[in-house]
Amino acid sequence: MAEQRQNAKMGQIPILLIAGVMSPHSKGAARARLNMDRDGGKKGAPSYLAGVQVDLGNVDKYLQNSKTFYTCNIVQNTKNLEVKDVIKEMNDMLYEVDADVKKKERKSPMVGVYYSGHGCSNGGDWCFKDGDFSFKFLESVLRKRGNIKIFSDSCFSGDWAVKLKKWEYRTRNVWIFAGSVPGASALDGGDEGGMATAKWLKLFPKLFDDEANSYDDVMEAMHQSYGCCAKIDDDGEYHYIEFRDAHAEYKLQQGMKGISLANKGAESDGDDSDGDDSDADDDYKAEAVGVASSGVTCSMGHPLRFMTQAQLVAEKPGYANGVGCDRCGKSAKKVGGSAHCSRCEYDLCPQCFIELSAEENGSSYKPVEVEKTCDEGHPLYKLNLVELNEYSDYPMAYICDGCFEMSTLAKGYDHAHHCPLCRFDLCPKCVSK
Ligand SMILES: [Zn+2]
Ligand SMILES: [Zn+2]
Ligand SMILES: [Zn+2]
Ligand SMILES: [Zn+2]
Repeated sequence: MAEQRQNAKMGQIPILLIAGVMSPHSKGAARARLNMDRDGGKKGAPSYLAGVQVDLGNVDKYLQNSKTFYTCNIVQNTKNLEVKDVIKEMNDMLYEVDADVKKKERKSPMVGVYYSGHGCSNGGDWCFKDGDFSFKFLESVLRKRGNIKIFSDSCFSGDWAVKLKKWEYRTRNVWIFAGSVPGASALDGGDEGGMATAKWLKLFPKLFDDEANSYDDVMEAMHQSYGCCAKIDDDGEYHYIEFRDAHAEYKLQQGMKGISLANKGAESDGDDSDGDDSDADDDYKAEAVGVASSGVTCSMGHPLRFMTQAQLVAEKPGYANGVGCDRCGKSAKKVGGSAHCSRCEYDLCPQCFIELSAEENGSSYKPVEVEKTCDEGHPLYKLNLVELNEYSDYPMAYICDGCFEMSTLAKGYDHAHHCPLCRFDLCPKCVSK
């Protein structure tokens, strides 16, 4: 297999294919599925796995026939893939590609990464066994070389397309194709794979492979596609295009179907086999799949996940005026968001969540006053790597938003000053600057 992969023609772009894990660490991990119960089974892991595998298979098949791209490796360990493995695979690809050209040319060649799997509701990060692969992990690539195309068919991946804006005029030739529009879920058609990927495979030949395509052809394919695309071009300028919103379209469709089903239900005994209403409703919702094995939960034992005020309002318009912390009463609008249970509408302000979590672990949380805040003006909490892993699903490492360096225990940093709402971090050096 390895030899076959290396037979790439000169000038073709290597693509690393990555499959997400079935049961990620992240409490905010989401994958929205569509009518999964065709075979009568319960919605769950096997169908998720099938969807991701179909995606990788389809993309690999497309790449094999592509004039522009080739598959450089397929990374798939649906049970145990960890963030460090993903980082290593990316570094291996970059090392190989850059080592080849450094002697002759100065410019790094284009590379690509394709991901299909769970996306985190807090910012679209990729969810693995030990924690989330954050957009911030790509920043060293953006800073040092640019020239990368990211294809992410996962929930909330559109958030990455928005985050790329920050890199305008600081990097070049970076594309992000996202399976969802910002703040929304991507849809997985189960046995057919992700709906965005299915549409992309029709768009990409037009966009990248077939020079004979007219502008109209490309526009037509774009209009059919799902999600969005952000790009920083060769001059460093940022561009953003939005395709269709699969989630919104599905909701609309279900709304209409709901009306006709209700009418039908009045006549029949309501034993409709193509999914009852409540289940269909669950299918499109990007329900958090993580489980609360420990930690602070709502009174029903559901895991809480951090959401900004904007994310809360997007999910529940009734939260627009702010919702009080269920412990201290502080308004989510005032503090910027909450640790939230969607099912019970239970909310804790970040401070209470952190205090209760410390209590649960038999310690007490002592707030450390620092002058710095996150970009949104929220307070920063001093948390160690274990706490960052437990509360914000960091993989025992983080990227500092001040110096962009990765901090790990091996590097001598065991804590960060952290905003759990924005996933913003400062290392000990940068917080005292
Ligand atoms: Zn509180
Ligand atoms: Zn709950
Ligand atoms: Zn720093
Ligand atoms: Zn913040």
